[in-house]
Amino acid sequence: MRWHRVWIGLLLFLGAPLATAALAQEPAYDLLIRGGRIIDGSGNPWFAGEVAVKGGKIVAVGRVPAGKATREIDAAGLIVAPGFIDMHSHSDTLLLEDGHAQSKIRQGVTTEVLGEGSSAGPRVGKLEPEKMMAGGKAIEWRTLGEYFAALEKSSVSVNVASYVGIDNVWQSVMGKSYERPSPAQFQEMQAIVEQAMQDGAIGLSTMLAMPPGSLATTDDLVLLCQPVAKHGGLFSTHNRNEGTGVFDAIREAIAVGERAKIPVDIIHVKIADQSYWGRMKEIVELIEAARARGVNVQTNIYPYTRGNNNLSSIIPPWAHEGGKGEFLARLKKSADRERMKKEIRGGIPGWYNHFTAVGGDWSRMLISGKSQYEGQTMDRVIALRTMKLETKPDDLDVLFDLLLEEEGSIPTVYAHHTEEDMNLALVQPWCSIGSDGSAYATEGSLRRGNPHPRNFGTFPRVLGVYSRQRKLLTLEDAVRKMTSLNAAKIGLSDRGLVREGLAADLCLFDPLKVLDRATYTDPFHYNDGIECVVVNGQVVLDRGGTHTGAKPGRVLRKQTSAAVAN
Ligand SMILES: [Zn+2]
Repeated sequence: MRWHRVWIGLLLFLGAPLATAALAQEPAYDLLIRGGRIIDGSGNPWFAGEVAVKGGKIVAVGRVPAGKATREIDAAGLIVAPGFIDMHSHSDTLLLEDGHAQSKIRQGVTTEVLGEGSSAGPRVGKLEPEKMMAGGKAIEWRTLGEYFAALEKSSVSVNVASYVGIDNVWQSVMGKSYERPSPAQFQEMQAIVEQAMQDGAIGLSTMLAMPPGSLATTDDLVLLCQPVAKHGGLFSTHNRNEGTGVFDAIREAIAVGERAKIPVDIIHVKIADQSYWGRMKEIVELIEAARARGVNVQTNIYPYTRGNNNLSSIIPPWAHEGGKGEFLARLKKSADRERMKKEIRGGIPGWYNHFTAVGGDWSRMLISGKSQYEGQTMDRVIALRTMKLETKPDDLDVLFDLLLEEEGSIPTVYAHHTEEDMNLALVQPWCSIGSDGSAYATEGSLRRGNPHPRNFGTFPRVLGVYSRQRKLLTLEDAVRKMTSLNAAKIGLSDRGLVREGLAADLCLFDPLKVLDRATYTDPFHYNDGIECVVVNGQVVLDRGGTHTGAKPGRVLRKQTSAAVAN
């Protein structure tokens, strides 16, 4: 008995200092951010406080319990916000080429949401698997699950979520044909959507203005949304028509949401035809009316008045049937050229045409893809190509020739919407930020073409131009539109806020300096004022503007209700 007490006494005597020593060696936090103003992503006003991070998670916010940190960051003068979620991104294959995601990380983006008409997967049935070189190795995938696995294997700096794109689903079953699918073929499509949802897709995305997406009727969309609704996913849509058919197209998106009982996010809402400029109010009214009767329709937007598409989109849909080979063959046939000219200038009912949308003004088309003419507007290109000719050809013949030379694809920036319309959409409470851009870089192989500046500047532009300079949005609301609003749309419950227990995705920026520097004619510039970016607790962009090379990004597969039930 006595010996027992002695032993306990000895243990207490020796053990206490040993335990304290061990505690002293193990820092309480991996990261402690001090002295900043926290804008937590909810839209609430900023508050002063600290943010502590441990094991990739935010463990304390505000008054943080005392404890040592492996790294402390002085955030005096800075805003500490959640990392930005890019609601509409096209980085799919670029992230495998270079996982550093430079142009996104340097905007404060910590999560990319991929997928529009097409998505990285699935590519099954009649669609060839995707093949590319990544890190000197040939890789190949078919399903969205395999794409996710490839991303995880190669590792990336940002988190990634993805929709399943309708083009993949449609072409996996229908190939290049424009025929109406049979009921059995629709069942096949539904099964492909179901599989993609099980692989972790967050919903179905579409681009309805061009084939093959444009082949799907409203009824077809409702049908294909059924497996998505079952998993609690989202329907995300680039409208069938952003020009003179835009109101019907918005009505269609609402109808899909209403009939399939599924939330809807309209991609880059805009009015992209000069004859309808100034009518954004009518879109807002349509969406508000739908919301009032219980249909959850929302939108995303990029803070620019020019869009990016392709000069090939000027060519009527029928000429694209059968794929690139047949498209190029038609561009060579004079009878087909004559029909195209008539339809491009005169229009086809229901078809959105970039040419008439910009009033046939070639100076409002800037070549953005890799091309001998990159960075030049089409009026100059046409002048260059025809200046030595005695009889000037039809401008459209110059376009057809150029498309033939460039294998049918010339990415182009179209100046087709207005500041007034864009601003009215931007300030709506349900309108969030998505860049519609990709992760490029100012150096190396991802310095490519003359891309739209949104690839580099979207998020700092919202903060610098539309919040600080023009005061359209409070800083808190601007941050909400980039963080918790997008997280809520795609069902990410553990990101989008600076809150204890959530993943430590953070962006520290200087509210007085933050600004985009990329322009249409000189896009390869990162931004001012994005000071530090943390992804899953790891510093990816460090003070002083260095990318640390860290690749802590994760694939964010949708936790579907079906998966939870399993
Ligand atoms: Zn789009």
